[in-house]
Amino acid sequence: MPSKNQKPKTMRLTDTHCHLELEDYASDLEEVIDRAVLGGVERMISPGIDLASSRRAVEIARKYPSVFAAVGVHPISADTACEKTIPRLRDLCAAGGKVVAVGEVGLDYYRRYASEKNQKKLFNEFIEFSIEMDLPLILHNRAASEDFHDMLKRTGQGVIRGVVHCFSGDEKLLEEVLAMGFFISFAGNITFKKAGPLRELIRRVPLDKLLLETDSPYLAPEPARGRRNEPANVRYLLDTYAEIYEHTPSDIARITTHNADVLFKLGLGDTGKIAYEIRDSVYLNITNRCTNECTFCTREVSNYVKGHNLKSDREPEADEIILEMGDISRYREIVFCGFGEPTMRLDTVKKVADHVKREGGRVRIVTNGTGDIINGRNISGELKGLVDVVSVSLNAPDAETYDRICQPAFGKDAYQGILKFIKECREQGIEVEVTCLDIIGEEGLAACRRIANDLGAFFRLRHLNEVG
Ligand code: SF4
Repeated sequence: MPSKNQKPKTMRLTDTHCHLELEDYASDLEEVIDRAVLGGVERMISPGIDLASSRRAVEIARKYPSVFAAVGVHPISADTACEKTIPRLRDLCAAGGKVVAVGEVGLDYYRRYASEKNQKKLFNEFIEFSIEMDLPLILHNRAASEDFHDMLKRTGQGVIRGVVHCFSGDEKLLEEVLAMGFFISFAGNITFKKAGPLRELIRRVPLDKLLLETDSPYLAPEPARGRRNEPANVRYLLDTYAEIYEHTPSDIARITTHNADVLFKLGLGDTGKIAYEIRDSVYLNITNRCTNECTFCTREVSNYVKGHNLKSDREPEADEIILEMGDISRYREIVFCGFGEPTMRLDTVKKVADHVKREGGRVRIVTNGTGDIINGRNISGELKGLVDVVSVSLNAPDAETYDRICQPAFGKDAYQGILKFIKECREQGIEVEVTCLDIIGEEGLAACRRIANDLGAFFRLRHLNEVG
């Protein structure tokens, strides 16, 4: 039975490529959109494949709040474009009709429905158009990888952004477009039994560059394979991605929805989270204040961690945090770890941890280890019985290095204070884990490992920008 304060968790999905503008949906478009929204697909992007379908995509986007449009001409229709095509697409963008991208555009040498010469000319014009409109590109490439990459590089290097949709290139192209900052999406064929090689390729895409798409009405995933595809089916891709990335389907949903918002600016506008799930644990973001200014701190790069917005200018009380966590039996552990130093709010940590322990949960606190200095006393006795594991971010083998890379408010006293705190926690019988980022070289890491061992703590190596 769920506890009375369990909050329902819903997945927020974004289908970044579904051709709602095509005839295939003429008779039941409304039901298709309703099914998607009911299934958690909050945003859909409908990319045009020629002038008429771009017009239709904009019309649909204006009518349905959850639908956005992209305007473009698919390479297989390149022979139909004329000098009036781009001015007309420009008018569509200017009409304030929720146009969030230029697409679907690119090159297709597989089917050869349009001449190579016309395809290249049009693709070049669209790259320039996207720069002029300051809109991302939704890109199609089939059997044209070399020209595709050359043209992106020659015309758009450093100024264009976008997604290579339904990626079908090889490892080389993947590395090249990732290096140019492009997002990547794959369609329902990743769920097919014989998709082994494609899945190997997916592994090379960093999670923060992955988008979800159905490419509806084409490429329906298992178990809808063989039927008309639709945006609601985007959920069927989650299990495959979850397996590849070793995250949960809901992690994949949240991260890809955030990525879509970063690229297309879909206005999801979420606020700073207090309790946030990653895999099978819940993390608590109880303050954005910290006594350090670490040179590698994630919050300096983005407000987001694994799709969760952690930027907050308010500090929740214990009752609110407990309510946000909901039923703790769902989690392997409860972790105090956000965009700040939790021991700056020691009383709140103690109240929440007390609740968790009473409910039979496991508590870990991720700290910079200066809790004694912050609170002006030895706090290890206060953590005993409330916190199962103290995870101390040491990150340096000596005070000088620590001072340089972590920039503590307490200056050189901080490092000795941290070592003392670790020792005290161990004396209280609390498990301590010392973590170090892989930014201090082999020698530095070996020294940190020795320090941890000498203090009776575990050692864990962490990778830069990998949180949770
Ligand atoms: S201790 Fe953690 S939260 Fe504070 S600045 Fe360093 S990395 Fe950021």
